[in-house]
Amino acid sequence: MADINNVIIIGSGPAGYTAAIYAARANLKPILVSGFQPGGQLTITTDVENYPGYEDPIQGPWLMEQMQKQAAHVGTEIINSQVTEVFLNEKIKKLNLDNGTTLNSKTVIISTGAQARWLGLENEHKFQGHGLSACATCDGFFFKDKEVAVIGGGNSAAEEALFLTKFATKVYLVHRRDKLRAEKILQDRLKQNSKIEFIWNSEVAKFNGNDDLESIDLLNKQENKISNLKIDGVFIAIGHDPATQLFKGQLKMDEGGYIITDPDSTKTSIEGVFAAGDVKDKIYRQAVTAAGMGCMAALEVEKYLD
Ligand code: NAP
Repeated sequence: MADINNVIIIGSGPAGYTAAIYAARANLKPILVSGFQPGGQLTITTDVENYPGYEDPIQGPWLMEQMQKQAAHVGTEIINSQVTEVFLNEKIKKLNLDNGTTLNSKTVIISTGAQARWLGLENEHKFQGHGLSACATCDGFFFKDKEVAVIGGGNSAAEEALFLTKFATKVYLVHRRDKLRAEKILQDRLKQNSKIEFIWNSEVAKFNGNDDLESIDLLNKQENKISNLKIDGVFIAIGHDPATQLFKGQLKMDEGGYIITDPDSTKTSIEGVFAAGDVKDKIYRQAVTAAGMGCMAALEVEKYLD
């Protein structure tokens, strides 16, 4: 019979590594399977100024490397592989990996995160961290006294636009239709804010610039006309996709595919399976909140195993 582990952590963002650090220090000998993007979303950001403990800005990839080393140093076994199939409903959970091995475990912590949706345009990747972002909370501060645009018409776009008015001199809200999807109260706040200007019925057709983003071409779909908007920063807020495909049909999820957990807990609909970080959180989505949930998950695993 193959080894039965105490806890396997799937995913290597702040939630996964923090869960690993706590589980390792509780002598649970955790195994962490890092997935296809080791380090998660922070590995595609540059300056991080809001993770506590650092006086000066730090780099996202560096922070994740430190978390990985810390998790390994306290005793986590890290497997650089991808989970391809899970069987969560049995008392002993079974995970198949793309390296051909199967892992058995009494508990599983899912911290596979989420991915911001991007527009899929040419150059989009190149400008990420150079004027283009998908997180105003993370990067808004860098646009003090600058002009920015937010793309999207939902609650996230509305909140990001309002947040950005604290720093930017002007915030364009670019939406592909002539009506926002955002809640009425947010729409009212947007309309009352003199820094916000709406650009309706428009989509980004092109990002322009050399090293940094300098302008965007906008296609007005009603007039079928392209215009150029000079801009210092663009925030894409068209939604996120949680990485939960693997667990469909086994765990309870909401309509957006986010894993549902008990209130104030990381417990999922299956005993012994816990979820932490962006995979279960569509509100806060911060490294520090994900790390906090990772800690909660490890403590709940410890209690469950007792
Ligand atoms: P969302 O509600 O799905 O809105 C996405 C927006 O992006 C929509 O306006 C959509 O346009 C637009 N969009 C999608 N794909 C696009 C594309 N390729 N090009 C241009 N525009 C595109 O996503 P969200 O705002 O991130 O919110 C996700 C969930 O979290 C929602 O349930 C939301 O209520 C919730 N949330 C709640 C709060 C809060 O309660 N404070 C805050 C943030 C998020 P269309 O309108 O034309 O489809």
